[in-house]
Parts: sequence; structure tokens; C-alpha cells
Amino acid sequence: MLLSEVRVPALDRGYLFGEGIYEVIRVYGGKVWRGGDHLRRLASSLKELDIQFDSECVPKRVEQTLLRSQLKEALVYVQITRQDRDRHHYYPSSPEFNCLIYLQPFDDPYEKERQTGVHTVTYPDIRWSRNDIKATSLVANCMAAQAARSKDCFESILVRDGLITEGSHSSVFAVIDGQLVVPPSSSAVLPGITKSQVLELCKARSINILERQLLVSDLPSADELFLTATPEEIIGIIKVDEQTVGNGTPGPITQQLHEAFQQNVAQIVGSRV
Ligand code: PMP
Repeated sequence: MLLSEVRVPALDRGYLFGEGIYEVIRVYGGKVWRGGDHLRRLASSLKELDIQFDSECVPKRVEQTLLRSQLKEALVYVQITRQDRDRHHYYPSSPEFNCLIYLQPFDDPYEKERQTGVHTVTYPDIRWSRNDIKATSLVANCMAAQAARSKDCFESILVRDGLITEGSHSSVFAVIDGQLVVPPSSSAVLPGITKSQVLELCKARSINILERQLLVSDLPSADELFLTATPEEIIGIIKVDEQTVGNGTPGPITQQLHEAFQQNVAQIVGSRV
């Protein structure tokens, strides 16, 4: 079925309430990247919202969609919502499920950004307090993303009570005194799949990791700052509001980690680099 032919029923609770969960998964060289991790996060989000959809069918459906598309470089979008016969806030007792899986060709558009680094703005983190659930209700993220775009910036860095939580659609890391500083995943911070991969890469390279709160007041002492997300991989941040980070270019650890990331992809899918 073509995406343009898909219809959402009016009583779908994702449509009514923004109640639903999703994943964005990368396909490199025709292979699903870290599918197991995405499936586990999907299952955890489903559990938190008591959506009793059996996610075990998702990998097979993704593979079938991928085969049919014949795409080699792509993003897979998976979204699961519930639907009932009446509109009420409490969960339906015997819902129908709507599971949307679609693929989008994706030919890494961020090469230039990785070389130059990107500008960002700070934006208040006005999201709810369960950001560990990858929920479709993303209006606060959209407002933050738009705030960045309206200033010609790549991303908004979300700030709550002086703490940097993450980006509107990315995880945020700093390098301070040679150590990688990253806010721990929590109910305020999504457990990013790329983030966990970066942590693995650091461990393999003996780069020291400090999982602690990142403060806005840490920014002047940060030698490097970077963001990670499934489509973006790893991109250096060279400006936050009017403040230049480090020497204004993507730093050595950021670059080293992205090279390691690419090598890892090449080893696993046997292509790229
Ligand atoms: N934080 C937020 C708020 C996000 O939307 C995303 C992207 N889904 C990320 C972090 C990065 O997560 P991942 O590395 O799993 O794509």
C-alpha cells in the first residue's frame, strides 16, 4: 500500500490524544541497524502505555516492507496506536491496534553538517516528565525544533532548571577536560540508541565517560559538544545561542567517534566507508 493511501480512523487514539508510540530505525546497505535495541525500546514504550500489541511481529513486517521496497539506504518508521468505538480518556478494554510501518529513502544528507558542525539554540524543556517513553505526542518537541529552524539553527538544546536534558530530536554530549559528559537516561531523557552506541564506542577506546547532569553553566568549559540521533549519527555542535563551543569546529573526539561509528557500520553491513 502506498503511504498516500493510508487512512487514520477518526477514533484512533494517536489521532485523538497523541497516545501512541513510535520508533525510527536506520537501514544501512539493506540491513536493519540495531533492530534488537529498537525492538526492546518499542516494547518498553508499549508496556508503559499498556498497549497490548504483540511487537514480536514488527521485525518480520519491517523485513517484508524492506524487501518489497528494495531500498538499501532508508529510514523505517514504526508507529503503534489503539482505537476504540467511543471517545474516552481511559484505555479501551478491547482495542483495535493500528500499526503503521513505512520506509523512506535516506541517503545521508548530513555530510556537510558533520564537517562544519552546526549551530543550536537553547529552548525551555516544556515536555512532559516521561520522556523515556517514545510517545507520538511531540508537540513540545515540534515547538522547539521550529524555534531552532526560525533562527537558521540545526537543533534546539532543551533546558530545564538550568540542566541540559537533550535536543528536540537528539541526545546531547559534551567533552569537558577530556571526559565525555552525558546526562544519564531517565524519565527526563530518552535512552537513545545512538547514544548507547556512542557509549560502547567510548568504552572500546578508553574514552572516559561521566554520566552526570549537564548544566548550562558547563557550556563555557566544554571543549566539544555534539548531538546524536538515528538519522544524524554524530554531529558536532559549534554554537549554542551566541556562544561558540571550543574553537568553533567539530572537535577531535567528536570526529574520532564518528569515524568509529562509520567503521562499525561498515564492519556489520559490509559497505560504506
Ligand atoms: N532524544 C529525543 C528527544 C529524540 O527524539 C531522539 C530521536 N528519536 C533522540 C534523543 C535520539 O534517539 P536515537 O539515537 O534512538 O535516534
